[in-house]
Amino acid sequence: MGKSYGTLCKSCGNEEEYMLGFGFMSNPSFEYLNESIKSKVIKRHLHVLEKNYKGMIVDVPSLELFKCPTCKTLHSRLQFKVYYSNDKIFEPQYSCGKCKSILIPIELTGNYMGEDSEPIGYNCKKCGKETLERSLSSILWD
Ligand SMILES: [Zn+2]
Ligand SMILES: [Zn+2]
Repeated sequence: MGKSYGTLCKSCGNEEEYMLGFGFMSNPSFEYLNESIKSKVIKRHLHVLEKNYKGMIVDVPSLELFKCPTCKTLHSRLQFKVYYSNDKIFEPQYSCGKCKSILIPIELTGNYMGEDSEPIGYNCKKCGKETLERSLSSILWD
């Protein structure tokens, strides 16, 4: 179960919607991760971890908000951990689709699932201006 976080740019009218939360409730599998992740590098890592290092997915993978430290855009990505080789942890690193910087997980001011959290300090993906406001598209989904 999860929510979506919507933003609207007051300068160019661009709307974005970010899915957040759990995409499914059953046991997490490597197949699910493979279907949900676009990055070829991460897919390759997962394959090796599963086949050669006894990889185990811990926690339920969930969609979280990330920011790009360089162009200050928002992104939603699947957050998860894989234990491997008995005592090591793999966490995915995602890069910005615009400028390739490594994305950083964030929480918006206050509780980001709350009604009061505004996308302050982030730039529009389309025009690059810092004129985002929360749109009314937050909905429950499961
Ligand atoms: Zn960027
Ligand atoms: Zn804009």
